[in-house]
Amino acid sequence: MTQLNETRDTLKIVVVGHVDHGKSTVIGRLLYDTDSLPEGTVNKVKKIAKETGKPFEYAYLLDAFEEEQKQGITIDTTQLQFRTKKRDYVIIDAPGHKEFLKNMISGAANAEAGFLIIDAKEGVQEQSKRHAYILSLLGIKKVYVVLNKMDLVDYSQEIYETIKKEMTEFLADLKVYPIDYIPVSAYFGENILHPSEKLKWFKGNSFVGAMDAIETEKGLEDKPLRFPIQDVYKFDDRRIIAGRIESGRIKVGDKITIYPEGKKTTVKSIAYWAERDKKDVAVAGESTGIIVEDEFFNKRGEVIAFEEDKPSISNSFRANVFWMGKNDLVKNKKYKIKLSSQEVEGEIEEIIGIVDSSSLDSKVNSGKIKQNDVAEVIITTNEDVVFDKFADSHVTGRFVIVDGYDVAGGGIIVDAEERRELKELQTFTFETLKARGDIFEEFYYNVEEFSIDQYKDFNKSYTVGDEIPISGESYKYPESFDVLVLRDKVAIKIRNKIITEIITLDQYGFTGYPLTNGRGFAIQAFTQPEFEKFMKEYSKTDERREVEFLNQWVKFDTYRRVIFHNNFWDI
Ligand code: GDP
Ligand code: MG
Repeated sequence: MTQLNETRDTLKIVVVGHVDHGKSTVIGRLLYDTDSLPEGTVNKVKKIAKETGKPFEYAYLLDAFEEEQKQGITIDTTQLQFRTKKRDYVIIDAPGHKEFLKNMISGAANAEAGFLIIDAKEGVQEQSKRHAYILSLLGIKKVYVVLNKMDLVDYSQEIYETIKKEMTEFLADLKVYPIDYIPVSAYFGENILHPSEKLKWFKGNSFVGAMDAIETEKGLEDKPLRFPIQDVYKFDDRRIIAGRIESGRIKVGDKITIYPEGKKTTVKSIAYWAERDKKDVAVAGESTGIIVEDEFFNKRGEVIAFEEDKPSISNSFRANVFWMGKNDLVKNKKYKIKLSSQEVEGEIEEIIGIVDSSSLDSKVNSGKIKQNDVAEVIITTNEDVVFDKFADSHVTGRFVIVDGYDVAGGGIIVDAEERRELKELQTFTFETLKARGDIFEEFYYNVEEFSIDQYKDFNKSYTVGDEIPISGESYKYPESFDVLVLRDKVAIKIRNKIITEIITLDQYGFTGYPLTNGRGFAIQAFTQPEFEKFMKEYSKTDERREVEFLNQWVKFDTYRRVIFHNNFWDI
């Protein structure tokens, strides 16, 4: 099997196109024609096809190959490696529309080149356009359009020219200028590895020829250092800062700065396992570990760089996002944002414009970004993020948005915005304790959208001795009760509307007063043993089992209700 070879050039490409236009067949052919398949795969697949009475498909080779590669733990299942005489390739296959977007957003954006496959017989489809748009959105500049299934149109130059003209006009609007349009028949292997006799009128490169002709972006190593910290390990008495060098190079003796805080130190050594691996420089693309002179408390998410070429640091940036969540992407709601190895909470501060990704028409800015919409937004996070413009650095210029537990969207950073004043998120504070006060959130049923909206006033803060509003528009608590803000590990006792104690969850013991969780949902534990069981089960609950836990232990409608509203966002 092909292995990536560090000394050879590697080019990452993504293959996209409408379903059934031949992506898998093209890739299967590439693997077959370049002898990249593991021994026996072709025979195995042919045999299975025969046994099941199905015609042989090159696409099946891909499945077999992916199966094979999955066994090597290093490989992402959606990525295939193969090589030509010239260099190594990593192909990102896009099995379906949704997977495609997920892959693009979460991993394939550092693909340097994109191949858009169009069925010559079916012509340009809506989804072909959508995929092209995504390529442009993600800033993939090196694009080839491949007209597949030329056998079905008698290798007609006329059809080729018609589709080429249509696509060129469309792509120009997106500022995508394909390097070339390549006619092929993946199924029959025409113009894949070698130019085809049947396509004599075509003067350009074959598919593989075109791939090999792409100039790789030189000098990722020569770009500014970006070394996001993945983890800090302790071995013996050494602390090793581990991560992948995304760009630039780092060597022993370098004076580095660790962002966002800007802590300065010097590289003492580069970790190695065996003496023969000892080295004093590591470069872009390498996963490595370094040991530094000063021992700070370093953690995942920080980014190492040189001060002369430092990344942007802010809690606000302008970005293009692609949304694929079922729930709308809305303002004033908290989302998890993952950027390189950083994970922060953030929200949409402003929606500048929304585009329908299938028609590419601008939409009325309703304040809500719907599934498959693309929008230009300003995002604000609750702590500083270290990033670059996507145009300058792919890995540190791209992020993913998580809604609940799902990756629901992603985006690329267009520009940094000035740092925003942070909103005070903590509502209950006492000495060093801080807890979120989501018990004062209002719940509205939006009759225009058939959805539930939440509203919260961020500017309120309460401490021991304060009287709290025990009723709002959509909630009414008892005059005396206890709030357990589980995620902040804080308990709040309220007696006759007054906060009497704010303590840690560990210090809290069952009182017999009604209990709510941090969102004001009634906890169904009314006796000491029930309370103990609740706490015990909570301690064993991870993210995956949270829903189950909540359904078992908390009740929404004891103190809360949902009230009807027109359009919440217009208030
Ligand atoms: P994908 O959904 O884009 O991955 O498409 P597949 O690679 O699975 O191909 C869909 C169908 O088109 C399969 O039945 C292929 O055999 C067929 N196909 C792919 N390429 C060609 C081609 O060049 N010529 C013909 N005639 N059929 C093709
Ligand atoms: Mg396929």
